[in-house]
Amino acid sequence: MHSLAAQDPKIARFILNELERQEAGLEMIASENYVSEAVLAAQGSVLTNKYAEGLPGKRYYGGCEFVDAAEDLARERARKLFGCERVNVQPHSGSQANMAAYMAVLEPGDRIMGMDLSHGGHLTHGSPVNFSGRLYEVSAYGVDEDSGRIDYDALRQQALAYGPKMIICGGSAYPREIDFARFRAVADEVGALLLADIAHIAGLVCTGLHADPIPHCDFVTTTTHKTLRGPRGGLAMCREEFGKRMNSRVFPGIQGGPLMHVIAAKAVAFGEALQPQFKDYAKQVITNAQALAQRLTAGGLNLVSGGTDNHLLLVDLSATELTGKAAEAALGAADITVNKNTVPGETRSPFVTSGLRIGTPALTTRGMKEPEMSAIGDWILKILNDPEDSALHAQVKDEVTALCQRFPIYPDRLDAARGAIG
Ligand SMILES: *Cc1c(COP(=O)(O)O)cnc(C)c1O
Repeated sequence: MHSLAAQDPKIARFILNELERQEAGLEMIASENYVSEAVLAAQGSVLTNKYAEGLPGKRYYGGCEFVDAAEDLARERARKLFGCERVNVQPHSGSQANMAAYMAVLEPGDRIMGMDLSHGGHLTHGSPVNFSGRLYEVSAYGVDEDSGRIDYDALRQQALAYGPKMIICGGSAYPREIDFARFRAVADEVGALLLADIAHIAGLVCTGLHADPIPHCDFVTTTTHKTLRGPRGGLAMCREEFGKRMNSRVFPGIQGGPLMHVIAAKAVAFGEALQPQFKDYAKQVITNAQALAQRLTAGGLNLVSGGTDNHLLLVDLSATELTGKAAEAALGAADITVNKNTVPGETRSPFVTSGLRIGTPALTTRGMKEPEMSAIGDWILKILNDPEDSALHAQVKDEVTALCQRFPIYPDRLDAARGAIG
């Protein structure tokens, strides 16, 4: 920190500002988390200097003996964590992991089915504005608008009629458990490959707190930075028969040199996720989401599907005057960070929306439990009931600040950064 502050005080100041923001506010964006000091150390290491195109033992550059060892360890831990046959730890992000997996088995123009973005799917599952929607023919499936749950019978009918080469399951805003076995049955019936994108739920899957996709899927992709609590990045897994193709699609197919510092940080995070305490963490993430869901529904809010099985909940504001955009801004004024989100049957634009997505992974990392969820639920209710009352925002913000001070994230880092900047 000291040398950064001396050499580039502007950037050092921005980093301090962001650290203070993270410490002072309630981070309830469902896809965010706080990594450990060990993950930060690996990611901020000299491994960033190394070019290592290729795979361990088969690189296009010299001097790779130590980064090879780091990548081998990352792969070994990932295999142990998820029980997959083949894994590639190099994808720079979840989107890259998906692209590599698709390219391993699909040709442009092939048919795919993915969950509709407005029903909780992800851009890379076939959205027209994404490469996936531009390269492939897409038929999007959705949830039943009354139950908020995937309609597996409708999915089956749609697959029978469409004949996809691949079905993609998983999403970014789906609060319920995904039935991978039912997806497999549909895929088998129509002769499709099955890919599970567990970007959001990886930390629940690897601890056995969510159904396991590995026995049912040809490919399983994920990010490493959401519930898995590692560095920002991706991970692609598959059955033995696709391993070689998938590796060659990651590199040289879509990427150049792997980010070896990030791969080392992934290894650290996988090591953490293999510890028994990580299962306690993942359990508490779900307990917290359910406690919050209970408080919010008791206070009169509608949740898509009525509750949650995982780390996130989706508030449905469509029966009210309040938009997702206005709700996000009102909560933001009290340092409660969430994101507006479309809901099934959405009538407003994606920039306005009728929903809010709220997650508990980051707050749980800080050590917050049910009593804190209950207090936070009350604050959210108060603000959404009176979204334009700025005195109320200020009052809740003070309570948020006091709560956050009791649950520091990086105490040493904050003191060091402040000291260095002066
Ligand atoms: C977050 C997410 C991704 C993409 O991850 P990036 O690292 O942001 O590219 C892919 N799929 C799903 C389901 C996600 O939630």
